[in-house]
Parts: sequence; C-alpha cells; structure tokens
Amino acid sequence: MRSILLPLILAACLFIIGVSILNTQLWYSSRADSLAGARYAENSIDSILDEASLATKTALEIATKECDVEEQYRLGTEAALKPHLRTILIVKKGAIWCSSLPGNRVLLTHIPKMTNTHLLLVPAKDTVNELPVLVYQTNLPASRILVTISDKHIRGALNVPLKRVSYSLLVGDSTIGLSGDVSAIDANTPLSGRVDSAKYHYSIIYNQPPLFSFARIVTKGSGILLFILLISGSSAYALEKYLNKNATPEETLRKAISNGEIVPFYQPIVNGKERTLRGVEVLARWKHPRAGFISPASFIPVAEKSGLIIPLTQSLMAQVVAHMNAIASKLPEGFHVGINFSASHITSPTFVEECLIYRDSFIRSDLHLVIEVTEREPLHVDDNLVSRLNILHENGFVIALDDFGTGYSGLSYLHDLHIDYIKIDQSFVGRVNAEPDSTRILDCVLDLARKLSLSIVAEGVETKEQLDYLNQNNITFLQGYYFYKPVPFTELVKIMLSKPKVKVIIE
Ligand code: C2E
Ligand code: CA
Ligand code: CA
Repeated sequence: MRSILLPLILAACLFIIGVSILNTQLWYSSRADSLAGARYAENSIDSILDEASLATKTALEIATKECDVEEQYRLGTEAALKPHLRTILIVKKGAIWCSSLPGNRVLLTHIPKMTNTHLLLVPAKDTVNELPVLVYQTNLPASRILVTISDKHIRGALNVPLKRVSYSLLVGDSTIGLSGDVSAIDANTPLSGRVDSAKYHYSIIYNQPPLFSFARIVTKGSGILLFILLISGSSAYALEKYLNKNATPEETLRKAISNGEIVPFYQPIVNGKERTLRGVEVLARWKHPRAGFISPASFIPVAEKSGLIIPLTQSLMAQVVAHMNAIASKLPEGFHVGINFSASHITSPTFVEECLIYRDSFIRSDLHLVIEVTEREPLHVDDNLVSRLNILHENGFVIALDDFGTGYSGLSYLHDLHIDYIKIDQSFVGRVNAEPDSTRILDCVLDLARKLSLSIVAEGVETKEQLDYLNQNNITFLQGYYFYKPVPFTELVKIMLSKPKVKVIIE
C-alpha cells in the first residue's frame, strides 16, 4: 500500500508545486502585459488631448478678436484638420460666442458646468446626435474654450488587443469603456488596475488578471504543463521502482494478494478406468504483471513463513466459490474440489468457522470439498489439529493426506485423525517405467497404504506405463500431465463443456 501511496503523493506534490510556480509566473507576466496595455491607451489619449490643447491655442487667439465669418471659418478649419476633434466652442458670459460648426451650431444640449477640471465626459443623452463626447476645457477670466472629442476616438484608443483585459477611461467619477455610454463608477466595484495620466486629469482603469486561471495555464503554458506532468509521472514511477526494489518478499506478496494477483489453477483428477472427470485440485498461481505466471514453489514458503498463507488461501477459497458457482449446473454429481491447506492455517482460531462459511457458499451442496494437508513439511500433529480436522470431517469435508510417504512425522497420528484418502507423491509414481525393478518403492508405499486401509489417489501420472501399473494395482483416481496439466478457470470450463469423457494429452 505504502509503495503506491508514496509515489502518488510525490506525483501530486510535484504537480501542484510545478503548476503553482507556472501560474505565478504567468500571473506576473499577465499583470505586466495589462499594465503595458494601459500605458499604450494612455499615450493614445494623451496625443488626442494634445490635439485639443493645440486647437485651444487657436481658439484663444480668436477669443481676443471678433467671431466674424473669417474667424469662424478659421475655427472650423482648425477642428476639421485635427483628426480626433469634433467641435471647438468659445463660451463667453455663459453663452456660445463662437463655434467651429457653421452658423455657430452646438452639438451639446446645454453648456456643461465645469469647475476647474480640464476634462468632462458628457453622456449621450446630453448631446444632439446622442453620441457621448469627451470635453476638454480651458477656463479664462473672460472666456471658456471647450473642445469636444468623439467617443469613437476614445474607444479606438482603449481598444488594446489583449485578451481578457478591458480598459476604460476614468474622468472624475465617470467612465467610458469599449462598449456603452458614459456611466458613474460603482463605488462597490473594487478598482483593480489604474494608471493616472501624467499630463491630463484622467486615468485608465482595467481589470487585473485573476490570481489563478486554469485557462491561462492551458493557453499560455501548455508546453510547460506537459513537462510538469511528465516530470511528476516519471518521478513517481522512479520512486515506485525504488520502493519495490527495496520491498521485502513479504511486502511484495502482500501487495500481490490484495491486488488479486494470486489466482487458482485447476488440475483435473480423473477416474483412470472409466476415463471420467472426478474433480479438481486447486493450485495457486501468481499472475505477475511483468513476469507472467509464477510457480507456487517460489512463494508458498514465503507465505507460510510470514503468515500470509492465511489471506492467500482465503482469497483462493473465495475465487473457487465464485468459479464453481458459475458452472454449478455443469458439475458432475459428487465432484471433488480440493484445496491445499497449511498446518498454520488449520490451527488458526477461525479455521473451522471459515470452512463452514466456505461450504455454505456453494450453490451445489453435493460437492466433495477436500482439505489437502501436506506431509512434506514436518506436520506437527497435536490434539488441536486433529480435533479441528475431525470436526470438519463430521461436517461433510473430505480430508486428504498429501505427498504420502515423503513425511517424517511418523504415522502414529493416523489412529486419531480421520483421513479419507491419501495422495501418493509424484516422486514415487515418476520412478515407474518399463523396467520391472522401477516399481519397487511404489509397491512398498502402496502396500503400506493398503495395510492402513487408506483410499488412494496417485499424483504425477505422466506415462502409459505408469497408468497401466496403477490400473493393475486398482488405483482408480489419478492426477497428472498424462491427463491434464493445471489450467486456468477458462480452460477448465472448456474441458467441462467439451469433453464429458477424458481425452489423454499424450498417447
Ligand atoms: P502438490 O499439492 O503436491 O501439487 C501437485 C503438484 O504437482 C503441482 O505443482 C502440480 O502442478 C504438479 N503436477 C501435477 N501433475 C504433474 C505431473 O504429471 N508431472 C509433474 N512433474 N508435476 C505434476 P505446483 O502447482 O507447482 O504446486 C507445488 C506445490 O505447491 C503443491 O504441491 C502444494 O504443496 C503447494 N501449493 C500449491 N498451491 C497451494 C496453495 O494454494 N496452498 C498451499 N498451502 N500450498 C500450495
Ligand atoms: Ca496437493
Ligand atoms: Ca502432492
């Protein structure tokens, strides 16, 4: 668990740190871009107002003279030649004295009241053609000069080509933006970016970029984002490798059990005379993600030493129940299902209870559930082990003594323990060949089994000679490569469905 969690935490941390740094950098650069945009708009508006200032000088000269046809023509020409100006007005004693428009016409509905400020935004409702204007005023003792600037030019100056930033002109408490009319600034709106003009009484206001923006990261930093992902992923992978390299065999096996990598294979047990399928022995296999199927010889000893044999066998029992229930209707009457149990599991406190639950989980109640106990390792037969196995025998379980003849434990316990049958080890069966002498040891083992009145299953049947010998000795239940190798569940299903009678592999 730790070996998955740590790499995941590392990947998440690296990703979060990387994205935070990238976001901060992009935020700073967006702020700088927005400010540069505001300065650009300020320059454009300054140069428009410079035009107004120049035109004011001409108007001032005219104000000292007469507003006759010639001077009015001069005022009109001044307004016409300055590309951003709309009208120039000279106001005396509160009334229009001279206008750049023919006939001293005025486009403002009324002459705006202005204090000392030089600038005023006039909304559309206060102009004849219903278009807002910016008024540039110069106040003199005897006259006022008003120069009006069209909203079109103001909006042109504010139109800075920057995505997600909008600029507005702020004069006093009024603003005008790219779209819309003049409006009062909302006191509740937090002012974000603001640049005050050094030359005139106005400011450019704009929205600051948000502190965090995923869209900004994706659009402006996709390359780096990909790099961060790559670094986080590969660091996590390297850490996972490192942790697994140093993981103990127990830890690796524990992980494999919880990941469901230990799966049951099934080796059929056949009736050698009738050639019918009598049952299966469940044999553990480690379905390793990289190494493929691993033999139990390499992990059962680790499991037994570490106590992991209990969860390992429990996991197999659950899988066997699911498999057998899936083909419940295809199983022959009294079908044997044998599982290998280690002595440490049998003597664990909950073993009997586990077996009873296991038994009750099968749809078919006529199955012969076999508990195989090996004699290969020294079997510490004590009252506890004997009584548990006897209880299970009384509850319908079949008890088989595995690898008979190889153990060192002595046979005295056979008096107390109810054994249903023994399994003759493949090392004895494997010696049998065409030579008459080759059967000598197996003769002895079979003799011993018969004298003890034990039923027999022979393991490791590989050849025709071995089969013939076992048939002559009336050993009916056989298991070995001569018939079937251990197979995964899907193969077992095929065998059960397609072959009611056993067909041998080697002839
Ligand atoms: P076993 O219980 O004696 O199982 C029989 C072994 O003989 C199996 O080896 C099987 O594949 C192999 N075998 C079957 N027929 C032949 C044959 O004709 N020729 C040869 N050469 N071999 C044959 P496998 O599957 O490698 O299992 C080895 C041992 O690991 C088992 O011996 C059993 O003691 C142990 N084991 C396997 N699964 C489990 C398990 O779930 N729990 C426990 N506690 N032990 C297990
Ligand atoms: Ca066995
Ligand atoms: Ca065996």
